[in-house]
Amino acid sequence: VTKTAGKGFQGGRGGGTTTEPTILNVGYKSTNYWVISVGTSRLLVDLGWYGMWGALKANLDRMGVPLKEIRYGLATHYHVDHAGCAQDLKLAGVPLLVVDVQVPWIPHMKKAIKPGEKFTDITLNDNTVITCAESRAFLAKLGIAGEILHTPGHSNDHVTLLLDTGAAFVGDLGPLSMTGEADDRTAASWQMLIEKGANTAYPGHGNIRRM
Ligand SMILES: [Zn+2]
Repeated sequence: VTKTAGKGFQGGRGGGTTTEPTILNVGYKSTNYWVISVGTSRLLVDLGWYGMWGALKANLDRMGVPLKEIRYGLATHYHVDHAGCAQDLKLAGVPLLVVDVQVPWIPHMKKAIKPGEKFTDITLNDNTVITCAESRAFLAKLGIAGEILHTPGHSNDHVTLLLDTGAAFVGDLGPLSMTGEADDRTAASWQMLIEKGANTAYPGHGNIRRM
């Protein structure tokens, strides 16, 4: 029995041409929100502070990203600074892409929001839910070469978008320098990302870092 070992690069010309995505930061309030674009097909990674949809919308406008070109919004994890505007985006026509491991954690996010504070609660029945295993094929339909990986550590529901270019949208996964025996899960997540080819971290807060 002959079986091809590699799964990433077989038939290099069979998968069509791949264009390297462009990356834009539309963040505010010390938090980065990344727009990954291949032409006018765009994915938004991390979705704004709760109650601040106006600020996110204004930044998208100012940086020339039409809402209708954002195919999906993806939160690295369901904390208030990363997924706070998920429902506002949906109401504005941007579907929410959820990884199955995140689903149970979505309702927990609002515990961090005080009664009376401005927040649009996230409905669960109208999201696009995929597994990490399905993510490569799903992203390919958007023209984006990469995959979504479960990277627990900062939170149980934490995922990382890893492009084939090596760009990793790592959300709040702790900085490499902070990993060690103190947090085995974070270290294991970084280890997996590096093994899978990550070379540049695009964090939820702070500057882009070479890995
Ligand atoms: Zn954060």
